[in-house]
Amino acid sequence: MYSKILFLRFPKTEVRKPVVCELARDFNLTFTILHATVFPRREGMMVLDLSGNEKDFKKGVKYLKDQGVKVKDAAQEISRDEKHCTQCGACTAICPTGALSVDRNDMSIPFDIEKCSVCQLCIPTCPTRAMKASSVFAESFFNDK
Ligand code: SF4
Ligand code: SF4
Repeated sequence: MYSKILFLRFPKTEVRKPVVCELARDFNLTFTILHATVFPRREGMMVLDLSGNEKDFKKGVKYLKDQGVKVKDAAQEISRDEKHCTQCGACTAICPTGALSVDRNDMSIPFDIEKCSVCQLCIPTCPTRAMKASSVFAESFFNDK
């Protein structure tokens, strides 16, 4: 089983088409929508947890791209400024996926980007503002409130 959390940006011409449903129907993939936003008269954005056979996964992603959807690893949208991280651990209490966790060997706080679901809960929690979202992703989240 191959699985990845993806960040999709839909051009406004594709926003109302069921392209994501076709991933299940035509490519045998399963998905969970973790976050979605459609801007009025503009593009749409979605965070999708997509799983399936690796070959089908690649075909499904190619299909999305062929429809004009921009596809990125969602984890690329979240970063940590290591210069500002004090390893205080506050974020580990809020992170739902264990992407931020305590390493009991040395009590450090590693950031496992592959586990990140881009929920952004760590951003307001971090006292030093070390956790950041890309401007495009932050805009989509902000507009959903
Ligand atoms: S809350 Fe911020 S400063 Fe503290 S460990 Fe997490 S990322 Fe680092
Ligand atoms: S965005 Fe969410 S899943 Fe990712 S590191 Fe922050 S709290 Fe964890």
